[in-house]
Amino acid sequence: KKTITRLPEWLKTPIPAGNDNFKAIKKDLRGLGLHTVCEEAKCPNISECWGGSDKSAATATIMLMGDTCTRGCRFCSVKTSRAPPPLDPHEPEHTAEALARWGLGYVVLTSVDRDDLVDGGSRHFAETIRKIKQKKPSLLVEALTGDFRGDLDQVAVMAESGLDVYAHNVETVEALTPYVRDRRATFRQSLDVLRHAKEVRGQEGIITKTSLMLGLGEQEKEIMDALTELRKANVDVVTFGQYMRPTKRHLKVEKYVTPDEFEMWRQRAIDMGFLYCASGPLVRSSYKAGEAFIENVLK
Ligand code: SF4
Ligand code: SF4
Repeated sequence: KKTITRLPEWLKTPIPAGNDNFKAIKKDLRGLGLHTVCEEAKCPNISECWGGSDKSAATATIMLMGDTCTRGCRFCSVKTSRAPPPLDPHEPEHTAEALARWGLGYVVLTSVDRDDLVDGGSRHFAETIRKIKQKKPSLLVEALTGDFRGDLDQVAVMAESGLDVYAHNVETVEALTPYVRDRRATFRQSLDVLRHAKEVRGQEGIITKTSLMLGLGEQEKEIMDALTELRKANVDVVTFGQYMRPTKRHLKVEKYVTPDEFEMWRQRAIDMGFLYCASGPLVRSSYKAGEAFIENVLK
């Protein structure tokens, strides 16, 4: 099989310099001790997420519970260990304090998977959200969680923490899941997580969200089936982005999906009843999440 080595034009966009909002948000970050995924992963969307026209919609992603994951998904470059270092008990308080001081409108909190902990880290994660909401109630919070090994009690702990958006990524279509995600993850288990998050908080109380990477070899019908199942599980929002191979040890890119195809998937998702959908080659699940939430949910 031919290996794709050259990037198509639409993925070679230069990183724009960023407007005044971007510069202000970046300056505020100094000294707060927060580690953003946006900066650490050199995300190409940073000037759009941090520097949209409206500062109250500025979005950033923060990683909690350390930098070492107990799982090893085949698309992900986060380091793996069976026994990562213990949680920092001060992290909820410190994170909340720093976020309350940072001029951000929307934060995505995510974490590594901590299968080594009895509760998967749910109480620590939920505590962080509660403290953020105490200190700055206007800050919109999205939590992007793992599947807690299908333990729905932990999903409930998260859903009841005061978050605005519960996100959990299915990452790919059902047929490719065993090849793409860690073997402990299944498509069905992820649907259960999303369905339960919605049940716990009720139809109006919470927005649920998921994300798929395209370009891993998925077929059109498999994507349609995934969207159908996600709607059945009452998932509100879906995003699509291009899978990019982090290193040669990771899964190959099977296809570079064109911007037109991404637009087609966005339209199909809307036609199927999703509240909104971000879809594009560089889209990540947190892409301009604040702007999208404010436009589609609050207005
Ligand atoms: Fe940060 Fe996500 Fe936006 Fe990238 S897409 S800049 S990681 S919030
Ligand atoms: Fe990466 Fe998440 Fe998989 Fe861990 S569970 S390896 S952080 S994608």
